[in-house]
Amino acid sequence: MDDRLKAIIEKDDASFLRAFGHRSPVCFDHGNGLYLYDTEDKAYMDLIGGIAVNVLGHAHPHLVSAIAEQAGKLIHCSNLYYIENQAILAERLGSLFGGGRVFFANSGAEANEGAIKLARGYFYHKGDPRARIVSAVQSFHGRTLATATATGQTKYSAPFAPLPSDFVHVPFNDLDAMKSAVDDRTCAVMLELIQGESGVNPADPAYVAAVADWCREKGALLIIDEIQTGMGRTGHFFAFEAYGVRPDIVTLAKGLAGGVPIGALIANEVASTGFEPGDHGSTFGGNPLACAAALAVLDVYEKEGLVDRASQMGDYFRDRLESLMLQGAQITAVRGMGLMIGIGLDKPVAADIKSRMLAKGYLIGSVGTQTLRLLPPLIITKEQIDVFTADLEATLKEVAAE
Ligand SMILES: *Cc1c(COP(=O)(O)O)cnc(C)c1O
Repeated sequence: MDDRLKAIIEKDDASFLRAFGHRSPVCFDHGNGLYLYDTEDKAYMDLIGGIAVNVLGHAHPHLVSAIAEQAGKLIHCSNLYYIENQAILAERLGSLFGGGRVFFANSGAEANEGAIKLARGYFYHKGDPRARIVSAVQSFHGRTLATATATGQTKYSAPFAPLPSDFVHVPFNDLDAMKSAVDDRTCAVMLELIQGESGVNPADPAYVAAVADWCREKGALLIIDEIQTGMGRTGHFFAFEAYGVRPDIVTLAKGLAGGVPIGALIANEVASTGFEPGDHGSTFGGNPLACAAALAVLDVYEKEGLVDRASQMGDYFRDRLESLMLQGAQITAVRGMGLMIGIGLDKPVAADIKSRMLAKGYLIGSVGTQTLRLLPPLIITKEQIDVFTADLEATLKEVAAE
């Protein structure tokens, strides 16, 4: 370990609140394309992309110059005034959604928090108050009190009781459970279409279609959390397009501004009446800098066809991994859609594989002990996928031989 890294870790240990789980002992100085460079200038191929954030990879010239140009003009000016980039971005996202209204926040949790408030506000303003939010077991919706409560994993909420009330969890992909939980007291159903944080578990399309129908029948709003699945990750701009459903509210964050903090909720006209003037707000949300970055990301998406690319590269990547599985590597399943990929392992060696791959210069994620997770930038090439897959195969063999 070099002196610079040692000093960073010592400072962090002494001063940073001990809230995070394990951090890998590495610190990056800069990046370029699919690669990050650490304090010793060692290169790493980045297959986790800041957890689905660095959709354009690192230091993409169009994003860098848009941010620099906006920073030189106006970084922030508050939502007391009109913001040109915010209006343009709202129009673009609303039209990608198929018509709707947009509100900007600063993170995924804050976008989901806004979606929950919007859904409750909708029934309040209608004069028919409903509070109940139904979400799935093993879901992940964020770390604020309400979103941690919506999250279907008690480890995220138990220490922080008392929690907001009227949040109910049902097993994922279980239509009967959903139908018995959702009635005319239900305000909204909140779902991920592919559960990311619990190991890349896709919802069954027939289940999602039936849940959407049931919500309509009971008058409940459908909120789809696309914070991880959105921004083309699955090969569709929104994953709901692949499922053939239309949510009332969708949330985005992670990749939206390519690494600049931002979150967004998009609501159809009906659901958007949940906020009346003065009901919600944000100091930073949708500021000029974040919106300029998001517009630059959308420009690159259009120019480089990144949504289609995510689909093609995702198919290629999963083919390569499936062929490893068929050749007898310790892979039990390859899950996901587009460039959101989960690799099931036959033994609890995910952490071991992850640290061996780190030593070989690859950044990958793991969930629990038996799943590897890949969320690479959408600019990844076939050649890079081949290089990674060959080293993953070698590493799986090493671990199996021990
Ligand atoms: C990451 C994530 C969130 C939370 O986003 P933050 O920006 O960390 O608050 C919420 N929902 C899903 C599906 C996510 O993947």
